[in-house]
Amino acid sequence: MVQVTLLPELLAFIAARIVNYETEATEPFHRWEAPTVGEFAAVPLIRHWYETIGLRADGEIVRWSTDHREPYLGVRPVEERYDWLSALVEGARRWPELRALLPTRPARATACQCVGNPMFAAGKFICPACCGLEWVEA
Ligand SMILES: [Zn+2]
Repeated sequence: MVQVTLLPELLAFIAARIVNYETEATEPFHRWEAPTVGEFAAVPLIRHWYETIGLRADGEIVRWSTDHREPYLGVRPVEERYDWLSALVEGARRWPELRALLPTRPARATACQCVGNPMFAAGKFICPACCGLEWVEA
């Protein structure tokens, strides 16, 4: 299980986004997924083919079945770095407040080889090396 540490302000921010998810919808699919936000008490960070990965107000990162061929009930833990980090990177695009949860770029970091590669443009493949951060530790 992955749980990020949320400062009180961010905890309150996430809790408010969960409660107000439907009224704050800016895309049709936000409205479609609003019932699951309430049911699983998590804001969606990233949507994959079969699963959505979301963040709960206590900092736990969870996933749930969306259009799965073998759907499962409830939420499952997220374990892989690629899954939780790419979800936070994507979520921070919608809510810049979540940038506080991303790792700080160290001075010795270098630009990832995915930068400028159209295969890894937003909405396409997520780079397995940097998970969307666009930098890697040298
Ligand atoms: Zn990369």
